[in-house]
Amino acid sequence: MTRRTILLYHRVARDPGDPYGLCVDPDRFCAQLGVLRDLVDIVPLDDLVARPARHGTSRRRSQVALTFDDGYADNLIEALPALERHDTPITLFVASGLLGDPRGFWWDRLATLLVGRQHVDLDLRRAGVSLRISLHGPRAGSDALVALHSRLRLLDVAAIDTVLEHVARQLRAEVPRPHHARVLWPEELEKMASSPLVTVGAHTVDHRLLAGLPREDQERTMRSSARVLEELLDRGVRHFAYPYGDPAAVDDDSFEAARRCGFATACTTSAGRMTALSDRLRLPRRMVRDWDADTFRSHLLAWRSI
Ligand SMILES: [Zn+2]
Repeated sequence: MTRRTILLYHRVARDPGDPYGLCVDPDRFCAQLGVLRDLVDIVPLDDLVARPARHGTSRRRSQVALTFDDGYADNLIEALPALERHDTPITLFVASGLLGDPRGFWWDRLATLLVGRQHVDLDLRRAGVSLRISLHGPRAGSDALVALHSRLRLLDVAAIDTVLEHVARQLRAEVPRPHHARVLWPEELEKMASSPLVTVGAHTVDHRLLAGLPREDQERTMRSSARVLEELLDRGVRHFAYPYGDPAAVDDDSFEAARRCGFATACTTSAGRMTALSDRLRLPRRMVRDWDADTFRSHLLAWRSI
């Protein structure tokens, strides 16, 4: 049986900080595409999930589909030229409400505030988060980031903004605009989507964590993100990725909402093995890090993707 794997990327960029490990260096990305072209068939998501013909001949090469989450500008600037050189299709999942927002994603604002700080004293109880952080030493900022990220992702966007303002004030800083992690402008997404290699999928409006929300609210943000993208790009949006996507970030209502929205596929970030029979609305993915060609190949082997 053909092996099938969905790879997950976020950014193709040089960012020596990169506290979340979301960036793949552009040269390494090119090298990774080269490895894939040598070893597997890179196919669009639709082809990957197509059921094999009952009497079809068994395929020998593994199939891999590439996905990108969130909608960072470097996907157009750095990734697309490499994808075109290697004639490689991708699906790009976009949080529609963030398009063109100069403030970028909240986790990048938080990282810009904290990373590199050697002293972090925060009391966030008045911001609605029962959390006090007092850290000192070379990892103070990074450790505070980890603690805060896991708490903040549970909140809605307005509450996250409030916490970020409190954090900035207590650090005697401004809430930054992380220009190095810019989100695509709508016209940039249109340009990307005009490439025959790029399929655009939805990723909710504001990247709110879905688990625990009423099913109608989950369905509303899925549906409206797809609708906004469909109107912008004048084409159907049939694929979806759950924000954060790990088991704690989705629940049964998320899968049911994705089904009611009529998505052909919905991707998690859970790292299971995919088969021809995998549930199309709970697809596992393998996150790719900033690996050189050999390391990338060894991960493909360990994942049994090749
Ligand atoms: Zn995301």
